[in-house]
Amino acid sequence: MSIPSYWRSRQQRLALAGEVCPNCEAKLFPPRDICPHCGGPAKTRFDFCGRGTVYSFSRVNAAPAGFEAYAPYVVALVALEEGPLVTAQLTDIAPEDVYIGMPVEMVTRQMRREGEEGLVHYSYKFRPVMERVQG
Ligand SMILES: [Zn+2]
Repeated sequence: MSIPSYWRSRQQRLALAGEVCPNCEAKLFPPRDICPHCGGPAKTRFDFCGRGTVYSFSRVNAAPAGFEAYAPYVVALVALEEGPLVTAQLTDIAPEDVYIGMPVEMVTRQMRREGEEGLVHYSYKFRPVMERVQG
């Protein structure tokens, strides 16, 4: 099974949870509880839409041990529609097809479950937004 079809079959739509500052309304991701813009407390949850554009990117040809099957891949800085920049791996695209300004959307999957309490870890990646086919 190819990696893209694996992702398509396993992906789940989950919120990209951050925070919003009640004072200056800055959107924060990842959540940090203190607004970097005004220094005030920011603990109000805000769900990002998960869409954005590629702000910058780099191709990774040598993957860490255990992830060799995924190389080469692209790690991008994604500018979310709401403003914050998120670093994440891109998926469902050939590394040579990535470009600055490319529209992307978040996909997530469960990574692993830990212990009896079932603490679940999620990982998110971004994939190209599918272009509408005309006609
Ligand atoms: Zn603020």
